[in-house]
Amino acid sequence: MASPVAHSLIGLSAYVLVKHRHLDGRLLLAWLVLAANLPDLDFIPGLLLGNVDEIHHSASHSLGFAVLVALLVAVFLYLKDHGQRLQLTLLSAGLVSSHLLVDWLTRDRGAPYGIPLLWPLTSDRFQSPTTIFLDIRRNNFFTWEIISHDLRAVAIELLLCVPLLLACLYVARRMRGGKNYRA
Ligand SMILES: [Zn+2]
Repeated sequence: MASPVAHSLIGLSAYVLVKHRHLDGRLLLAWLVLAANLPDLDFIPGLLLGNVDEIHHSASHSLGFAVLVALLVAVFLYLKDHGQRLQLTLLSAGLVSSHLLVDWLTRDRGAPYGIPLLWPLTSDRFQSPTTIFLDIRRNNFFTWEIISHDLRAVAIELLLCVPLLLACLYVARRMRGGKNYRA
């Protein structure tokens, strides 16, 4: 798995693209960053059971889960009579899917390997043949080998995701500039 740094930067990138359309900015930011990290909440049952990996990389790491999140968001926004229902529903599903993409592209050293991308159609696991993100190791946290590995993993995530954020900031500024010009 990648760290929350990569997923959160992707959520933040989505936020800078759409924030000008919404009044509830901080709430939107919190939701988009959460949506990008949502599949990893499968750590919580494992924590309660005493083994963080017990349920990790299961159904929450699938396109079926992304569809489920989209449905729940759509129903919630419909009940709230929210004006940006379609955009926020698609954005939420897109951010959950971005999490799957990042994890698919992340080195996985622990069996069962990969994620059940197409659940519930199949429980087969998928892993990119070429990975670009390093896994985060959670055993023996305080050995220098683990610390240096995890620091390297986060550095790669920053290297790949900060340019995405900067590109989104640039596009958002251009979009706002164009809007102001038309007004
Ligand atoms: Zn994950």
